[in-house]
Amino acid sequence: MIRALWFLLKVAIVIAAAIWLADRPGTVSVHWLGYAVEAPFWVALLVALAALGIAALGYRLLRGVVRTPTRIRRFSRTRRRERGYRALTQGMVAIAAGDAPTARKMARKADGLLNEPPLTMLLSAQAAQLQGDERAAKQYFNAMLERPETAFLGMRGLLTQAIKSGDRVEALALARKARNLQPNTPWLLGTLYDLEARSGDWAAAEGTLQQAIQAGAIPTAEGRRHRTVLLLERSFEAERRGRADAALSHAQAAHDLMPGFVPAAVRLSRLLAADDRLKPAAKVVERAWRQSPHPELADVYRVVVDSYDPLTRVKLFQKLVRQSPDSAESHIALARVAMEAQLWGEARQHVTRALEIEPSRRLYRLLAELERNERNDEAAARDWLAKAAAAPADPAWSCGSCGAVSHAWGGLCGHCGAFDSLSWKAPTVTASLMEPGTLAPALNAPATVRPATA
Ligand SMILES: [Zn+2]
Repeated sequence: MIRALWFLLKVAIVIAAAIWLADRPGTVSVHWLGYAVEAPFWVALLVALAALGIAALGYRLLRGVVRTPTRIRRFSRTRRRERGYRALTQGMVAIAAGDAPTARKMARKADGLLNEPPLTMLLSAQAAQLQGDERAAKQYFNAMLERPETAFLGMRGLLTQAIKSGDRVEALALARKARNLQPNTPWLLGTLYDLEARSGDWAAAEGTLQQAIQAGAIPTAEGRRHRTVLLLERSFEAERRGRADAALSHAQAAHDLMPGFVPAAVRLSRLLAADDRLKPAAKVVERAWRQSPHPELADVYRVVVDSYDPLTRVKLFQKLVRQSPDSAESHIALARVAMEAQLWGEARQHVTRALEIEPSRRLYRLLAELERNERNDEAAARDWLAKAAAAPADPAWSCGSCGAVSHAWGGLCGHCGAFDSLSWKAPTVTASLMEPGTLAPALNAPATVRPATA
């Protein structure tokens, strides 16, 4: 509607101008270089307008010709970028599909077409890794370190490589550098904590653990257990350095965090008993027995009651096992002290009760001992020993990562170096006895934060 009105208005203006010109007739004469041209005014006006139109057209044509190379360049650049991004996408799809040759081809193509090193370098590195070319991947990761926007990604790549190749010293150094770049990255804090714990840097690991819990990399309950293990290791370390007070205070802190955790209760009660503080030692064992009856706790309790006569010891042990009267471990502990007191009937009764709950090698061996000591019956003892050989294996400190068995609890598996992997259970594979805390060269265990066991 507005357009139609505007058109009518333009027509009206042209007609008005034509009428105005027709009402004012006149001529225009031009004398130039000996030529004389004379024309009515309206013809001169038309000629002037036509000349102006031709000039404008010429200008546009000329401008188009001048701008053509720039336009061609811009068009080809856009097409290049489009092809580059297409190659990048195809490369990423190939990586997801595990197609290494295509991934590498596309990475090279994208690198040639795009001027986006952060994207193409990562793709190239991943493609190289997929093809098993770790050396090439390392070169890309190192190149990524040189740009601030890719430094962290490069560091992550190198860290993953170091962990995979089992170079824990390098991995630890890289993880610490990466933390300086991005201090609150959850996966990094979890990995750094695990590396510090595996390297035995307990104090540093405790600090990193706190950060990892705050960043949500490790659940709070699991973190509490990790902290308990770290404190126990700090206690062992302090003892090795002759700092008895620190050894005791770390053990106390560990026991306070997890009163039912056997290694903490054993550690604290042993240190207290060694310091001749028998009553607190007994309290620690009794408290732990309620949650987790365990032969090592019974051993410490035996040390605590050592100064008493055999019959009093039996009474004191009866007091201990009241914390968990129905467990097999309680009956085994009572059977042992009853045998020491030569209360054969009572000892036999408890062994039988324990056998009903859970048969095991040590129970058959205990019965053999009973036959020898009480009745001097070597034939019966041999029968029980034969049964022991066929019975299920006794529980031991077994590594959840590699299956190795350790004769004593420790924060690190002596075989594979895993942190907090030992739990009290029947071993699943035949494994030799190890000293905990001595790292064997099996470095290929994954450096991840494992869920708590036992
Ligand atoms: Zn292990």
